[in-house]
Amino acid sequence: MTEPLISLRHLSKHFTMDRDLLGRTTSVLKAVDDLSLDIFPGETFGLVGESGCGKTTVGKLLVDLYTPTAGEIVYGGVDLAKLRPQERRRYCRDIQLIFQDPYASLNPRMPVGDIIAEPIRVNRLQPAEKIDDRVGYLLNAVGLSANYRNRFPHEFSGGQRQRVGIARALAMEPKLIVCDEPVSALDVSIQAQVLNLLDDLSEEFGLTYLFIAHGLNVVKHISDRVGVMYLGKLVEVAPKRELYSNPLHPYTKALLSAIPVTNPALRTERILLEGDVTSPIDPKPGCRFASRCYAKSDCVGCDCDVEMPPLREVSPGHLVACYLHPGD
Ligand code: SF4
Repeated sequence: MTEPLISLRHLSKHFTMDRDLLGRTTSVLKAVDDLSLDIFPGETFGLVGESGCGKTTVGKLLVDLYTPTAGEIVYGGVDLAKLRPQERRRYCRDIQLIFQDPYASLNPRMPVGDIIAEPIRVNRLQPAEKIDDRVGYLLNAVGLSANYRNRFPHEFSGGQRQRVGIARALAMEPKLIVCDEPVSALDVSIQAQVLNLLDDLSEEFGLTYLFIAHGLNVVKHISDRVGVMYLGKLVEVAPKRELYSNPLHPYTKALLSAIPVTNPALRTERILLEGDVTSPIDPKPGCRFASRCYAKSDCVGCDCDVEMPPLREVSPGHLVACYLHPGD
């Protein structure tokens, strides 16, 4: 069986929200809570959920922008969370991030050639005399002319700026790229181009992606497997086809019903979620989705309000955290 490229094991990231007079923590925001996930070489794993569910925090933990509160990030047989910063830097070069906002992520005072060359120079990835060629190659790889290297970010369109951001990530010769909603700030017509580009680059450069998005419609095109997050927890993971044809968790079903369908014959009834969203600050025990779950009444004798259901495998590769689907 293929070894995972990276494994998240019982990973948590909690933020202290309040302390008492003695400095003891009295209130905690559980952005990511006991999350376990394997990402395999060459695959694109789509991570989906609404704002505040913790998906971006997972991405930031992977690229070392946050330190985990608990759990392991195992890459190359090493737990990155336990390394000292200098040791971690060597591994973190393999894991790069493409930001959501292509404009804010580029230094407006630097020509794009310098933006792409900087990580190559700082990490001594190429001899000095070859850096210019490498920058030209990377610009071509993302569909831009090498002659654009002297232009500044404001001279590009949104889609072109995101291509520059992708080229900068590729400059580090990564194995895994965390794509944090890379198309959500772009026009719909440009989104497909950037998704196709990422798809092509994954083959050309042998990349693995963690692709973070709000909605299941965006990740459908690009993902091999999809994970759905709700309030810091993974609630469903499945291969793409299985998830879209046989969603099991009530929240996944609601997300799928929100995807616009042009063919009237294929339209299904929209599931509108009611009830308050459980606060991620000191969440109550029980299923995190319980306050909005329209299927809770079907789960007779379940512990929906008592304990969070564990993520269980219900069919090969299909895991769900819901008492309605207890698995084996
Ligand atoms: Fe709904 Fe209960 Fe399943 Fe949670 S465990 S999703 S509350 S049925």
